[in-house]
Order: sequence, then C-alpha cells, then structure tokens
Amino acid sequence: MIARSQRLYRIGTTLADLIWPPRSLLSDARVDCLGTMEADLWRALNFLYGPGCMRCGFPIPEATGPDMLCPVCLAQPPLYHRARAALAYDDLSKPLVLNLKHGGRKDGLRAFAAWMVEAAPFVAEADQILPVPLHWSRLWQRGYNQAGWLAEALARRTGRPYNPLLLRRKRATPSQNGLSASGRKRNVTGAFHIAQPVAGQSFVLVDDVMTTGATLQACTAALLRAGAVRVDCVALARVVRPTKLDVPTEPHGAPQELLDV
Ligand SMILES: [Zn+2]
Repeated sequence: MIARSQRLYRIGTTLADLIWPPRSLLSDARVDCLGTMEADLWRALNFLYGPGCMRCGFPIPEATGPDMLCPVCLAQPPLYHRARAALAYDDLSKPLVLNLKHGGRKDGLRAFAAWMVEAAPFVAEADQILPVPLHWSRLWQRGYNQAGWLAEALARRTGRPYNPLLLRRKRATPSQNGLSASGRKRNVTGAFHIAQPVAGQSFVLVDDVMTTGATLQACTAALLRAGAVRVDCVALARVVRPTKLDVPTEPHGAPQELLDV
C-alpha cells in the first residue's frame, strides 16, 4: 500500500513538474527539484552555523569555546535557554524570508527546516514544537502563519510533536516598527498565554525572523509561568547588525519590509 502511494506521489510530482516547472527559491530560473536554488546563490547565503553566543546565538567569529556569551547575555541573560537562526537576514536571504512571509510561498519549507535543524540540533529534543502565534485578527487578514508552516516542517523533519494551538496571542500588538529595544519589549510583554498546563515539558519556539528577540522572550515568559522546564528558540533568519560595541542591539526596530501588513 505504501509502495503504491509512493508511486502515485511520484507520478503526481512528475506531472506537476511538467505543467509547472519548479523555479529557484532565489531567482526565476528553472531548477530540477522543487524547493532548491542555483548552487552559486546557495553558497553565497550567510548561514549562521559558526561559533556564537551560547545563549542567543549571536555570531562571534572569534569565540573561544562553546560557553562563550555575548555582552548582552552577560549583562542580562535571556529567559529562553538557547536561540539560533539558520541565516543572517541580509540582501541575500531577504527574498527567501519575504516570499515566505508576505508571498505565502511554501516550496522552500523542506530546505528551511533542514537548515534550521543544522543550526539548532536541539529541535529534535523538544517535547513540543510551537510557532510564535499571530493574533486571530492578523491570521484572518493574512490567511496563514508562516511561523506555523516552519514549525510544522520542523516537526515533520524531527518527528517531534507540533502544537499550533497551545500558545495564544491574547491581544493584537501594534507593529514593532520604529520602537527601541525596550519599546519592543514593552509592546509584547504579557501579550501571550498558554491554553493548557505544561508542567515539566520542554519546548522549541519557532519564528521566521528574530530581531531583538523581544517576542520570543514574551512567549518564553508565558511558557515558564505555565510550568515549562526549558524553552529554546529557532528562527529561519535573524537580523545581525553589529554596533561599534559588537553587541546584538537593534535600536531602530525591524527592517521596514518585515512589518506585518
Ligand atoms: Zn547572547
């Protein structure tokens, strides 16, 4: 039965490829397989697999060991245990993120999940994988939650349970645009709640882009209040804008194109 359904899937995929030839994730070029891209474009992407802060994952090329902390985490450790992202958010990765977030393009999800697990192997240890939720009014407006798609793809890849309904956004928070790091924190503090008890469980929170980490911190706070033992975070990309102090501050808010519309 499985062999038959696999055969049917292959026939369906071949027919679909003939009618709608797969396009590169990063250009209009035709590619052999859905969800891939040209080798030179893939090689140019800035993957964040190298050394970094043990807690927030901020890249520190000269990190001397796995216990290295960035100045921000040293000064104020985050509530989550670890956060990692597969890619630096820059001009090269921007089309991947925006096609997912605003274009609803799903054909990169398998590749994205593979990259995210590479950056954050701890995903495979989570009791549950949760997306950063949208408020129902935003979900209604957009029709999908791209963080939910990523979380689902990660669950499929790792075999860990995916739970899109546990963590809820109880109020529609205004856009984070133009807010300082402390303003972004105030904006989302207390915006999330948990639908059922989670005592003793560990979680991986999933988002598409990490900027200051304020949203992930607010979600983590809600999970810890409800009894979670550990919360880790993973994003497809993160904003990396070193200041002259080389610390992961984000004083001017998220890039304009990342705003929820
Ligand atoms: Zn850090």
